[in-house]
Amino acid sequence: MKVIVVGGGWAGSGAAIAAKNAGAEVTVLERTDMLLGTGLVGGIMRNNGRFTATEEAIALGANEIFETIDANCRHTNIEFPGHSHASLYDIALIEPAIKALLQKKGIEVRTLARVKDVEMDGDKMVSVILTNDEKISGDVFIDATGSAGPMVNCGKYGNGCAMCALRCPTFGGRVSVVGKAGIEEKMGKKADGSIGAMSGSCKLLKESLSKEIVEMLDKTGVAVVPIPEHLRKGEGVLAKKACQQYALKEFAENIILLDTGHAKLMTPYYPLDQLRQVPGFENARF
Ligand SMILES: Cc1cc2nc3c(=O)[nH]c(=O)nc-3n(C[C@H](O)[C@H](O)[C@H](O)COP(=O)(O)OP(=O)(O)OC[C@H]3O[C@@H](n4cnc5c(N)ncnc54)[C@H](O)[C@@H]3O)c2cc1C
Repeated sequence: MKVIVVGGGWAGSGAAIAAKNAGAEVTVLERTDMLLGTGLVGGIMRNNGRFTATEEAIALGANEIFETIDANCRHTNIEFPGHSHASLYDIALIEPAIKALLQKKGIEVRTLARVKDVEMDGDKMVSVILTNDEKISGDVFIDATGSAGPMVNCGKYGNGCAMCALRCPTFGGRVSVVGKAGIEEKMGKKADGSIGAMSGSCKLLKESLSKEIVEMLDKTGVAVVPIPEHLRKGEGVLAKKACQQYALKEFAENIILLDTGHAKLMTPYYPLDQLRQVPGFENARF
């Protein structure tokens, strides 16, 4: 059986390994030059209930992917406000490690392979068509194209372009395979009824922060820096976060940074001229 996985993010990589372990011939098609999609700007694992979820997934047979993540962590068993025993994978090392895992298992990984359309035979999908018009047929197709993008959606429903790892202008935006196959995609809604959200965390260049903050991040993985009263945006800003497990008042009162290689800023976009007024962030840049 030939399984075609469209999208090489965490979901696509996990699906590819599961399909391969079940005995299929597997190809992953990824539109950019790297696997992991939004996982390239992630990093936090095993926090709170996700520790048990990880151990359960390992016990159920997903050990290879989690062992690879655990082996590429900058910090393990860290605490930050509202969260215990988290680990932080290294965003610089994780992608080559996952790609090597897939390839070692005999999974074909094709980057710069953006699916632009599908071919149907009645109700059955029979192939996907790449931007260069190459047709790839298979028995099973897995849509793991995620939910981020295309670019226009970030401006229309999100908080603008976060210059994220997806680099739509270079590689072309997301194309939904199920959408092309005629299935309606559902959009999640925020509490106020509006749609669209992108995480609510940003990345700062570690080298642009003060020596004290960088030392703290290197040593403990975490830096919690109180925001001066006049610069606080209030707890309303937390509603913008897609990841509501971080919508705690500590995240509105402090700049909370986590060391994933970048300094992961656990606050929705902060205008740089305001951020630079916080002690230690005078030279900060995204
Ligand atoms: C800024 C940010 C920070 C985050 N931090 C964390 C964190 O610390 N911890 C955590 O657990 N989660 C975090 N998340 C959430 C987590 O990253 C995502 O939930 C997860 O990575 C989604 O994986 P996915 O594979 O479903 O989708 P995606 O990561 O979106 O992957 C989809 C892939 O499909 C590709 N693709 C799309 N269309 C096509 C096409 N037509 N043809 C071929 N390829 C295509 C894309 O290029 C991409 O590689 C964060 C998310 C963001 C945005």
